[in-house]
Amino acid sequence: MDASAVCTDGTSTTGPGSQDGAHRRKVSKDVQMDIEHLCKAVPQLATAFNILDKIGEGTFSSVYLGEARMRDGRKELFALKHLIPTSHPTRIAAELQCLTAAGGRENVMGVTYCFRRDDHVVIVMPYMEHRALVEIIGSLSFAEVRLYVYHLLKALRHIHQFGIIHRDIKPNNFLYNRRSGVYALVDFGLAQGTADTKIELLKDLGGLRRTPRPVFGERNLNSCTPAPSTTAPDARKAEEALSWRLSSASRAAGRTLSSSSQKPQRAVQPGLTCDCFLTDRVCNICMSRKQQVAPRAGTPGFRAPEVLTKCPDQGTAIDVWSAGVILLSLLSGRYPFFKAGDDLTALAQIMTVRGSRETIRAAKTFGKAVVCSQELPPQDLRTLCETLRGRRRSSTGEGVPPAMADACRNRMDGASARGPADAAEPSLQKQESLSSCERTESLVKPNLEAEEEVEDWDRVPDEAYHLLDRLLDLNPNTRISAAEALQHPLFKGL
Ligand code: ADP
Ligand code: MG
Ligand code: ZN
Repeated sequence: MDASAVCTDGTSTTGPGSQDGAHRRKVSKDVQMDIEHLCKAVPQLATAFNILDKIGEGTFSSVYLGEARMRDGRKELFALKHLIPTSHPTRIAAELQCLTAAGGRENVMGVTYCFRRDDHVVIVMPYMEHRALVEIIGSLSFAEVRLYVYHLLKALRHIHQFGIIHRDIKPNNFLYNRRSGVYALVDFGLAQGTADTKIELLKDLGGLRRTPRPVFGERNLNSCTPAPSTTAPDARKAEEALSWRLSSASRAAGRTLSSSSQKPQRAVQPGLTCDCFLTDRVCNICMSRKQQVAPRAGTPGFRAPEVLTKCPDQGTAIDVWSAGVILLSLLSGRYPFFKAGDDLTALAQIMTVRGSRETIRAAKTFGKAVVCSQELPPQDLRTLCETLRGRRRSSTGEGVPPAMADACRNRMDGASARGPADAAEPSLQKQESLSSCERTESLVKPNLEAEEEVEDWDRVPDEAYHLLDRLLDLNPNTRISAAEALQHPLFKGL
C-alpha cells in the first residue's frame, strides 16, 4: 500500500479535514485514547492511515476504521484488526495465511497488508460497510434470507476446499451489506485445519490447542464403554490406561455405526469397571477421569453437537451446523436462536428442537453418551419457525398452538443434558431457556417494503425447511456439505 495520511490529531473529531466531511466522525474519549495507544504501539500505521473510529471489539482483537489516501489521490477505507499482543505467533500467522490463501474471493474477506511492531500485529483489510444481523433480521424478506444463506454456503465451500475449518461461523463473522448485496466471511482467529489442509500453518496449530476451560457440569461427556481388554496396555497407570481406552473407544465408534450394546463390559483391571453409564449417578472412575481434550472454540449457541460433546474428530461439518443455526434464526426471525452460556445448556436446547432420542442416537455414532432427563420429541421445523414468526395460529386463535407454547415456556425447564460423570446435574432455569421464546426487539415497524415481505414469508417453500433439516443433521457423518447444499433445490436458478 502506498498512501499518505496522518494519525489522529488529538482532538475528539477525527477525519481528513473540513473540506471532506464524509468520514468525519465523532468518537468517544475512550475510543480516542485507544486510537492513540494503537498509533503509539504501531507508529507505521500513522504514516499510512488516518484512523477514524473503532468498529469492532472482541476478546482477541479490536478493529478500527482507517482511511488511506492512495497514490492517485483517492481516499480508501480499511479495516485495521489489531490482535491482542498475547496471541500466539503461529495463531496470528495462521489467521493471515487463511486470509491470503483463501480470501479476496467467493465471499471471503481478503487482506491488503499487515503491520507488525514487537508483539503488536495489525491486519489491514478492505473495509466493508455492514450492519449487524440482529438490527435487520426483523425486516429481511425470505428472498434475502435465501440469498444470504446461499452466499454463506459459498464462502464455506470455498474455505472447506482449502481444508480450513472456520470454527466460529456466526452472523458477526459474516458481514452483509444489504444495499450492495455484498457478503464477506471474516475472522479466522479460531480456524483449524482438516487432516489434509492446504494451509501449512494450520497444520502447526495442533500442538497449540488449549485444554478446554472447565465449565461447571460439563465434565466427561465421553462414553464409558471400555475397549476390548486385549488391547489395553497393562504397564500403564490406571488413569492413563483408562483415558487411552476411552479415546480408542470413541475412535472405533466414530468409524462404524455400532449397534452393539453400550452396556459397560468387564475390563481387565477390576478397579476400572465403570458402572454408571446410562444411570443418574457418577461413578468414581468417571469422577477421576481426565477431561478429554478436544477443540471447543466458538460460541455455544452455534456449536455443533460433536463440538458440544467434545468429540475429538471434528471436521468442516461443524461450520455447516453453524450455518444451519443461522438459517434457523433467519427463518424464525429470532436472534440469537440458541442462547446458551455453556455447552450442556446448548445441547439441551438442541434437543428441544431436534429431539432427545435423535441427539442421543447421533452422539452414539461418534462415541459419545448423552443422557437427557426428559424425553423431548423432535419438532417440525416449519411449524416451529412459522409459530415463532407469528405466522401460525392455533385452532383456538391464540396465535400459538398449545404444543408450541409448551415448547417455548416449559420445555426447557425439566430438560437437561448430562454426561455420565456430571457431579451435579445442571438444571435449566426459565431465564436460560430458548431465547427464541422472547421476540427479538429488532422487529422493524411495518412499511411499504415490509408489506411486500408479508407475502414473501407466506410462501416459504418446503425446500427451505428440507435444507434446514439437512444442515442441522445431528450426525456429522451424514450432514450435508457446503458444496452439496449449494446444489440444493432451494437455490435453483441462482
Ligand atoms: P474478533 O476476532 O475480535 O471477533 P473479527 O475479525 O470478527 O474479530 O472482527 C470484529 C468485527 O469487526 C466484525 O464483527 C466486524 O463487525 C468488524 N470487521 C472485521 N473486519 C471487517 C472488515 N474488513 N470490514 C468491516 N468491518 C470489519
Ligand atoms: Mg469475530
Ligand atoms: Zn462411569
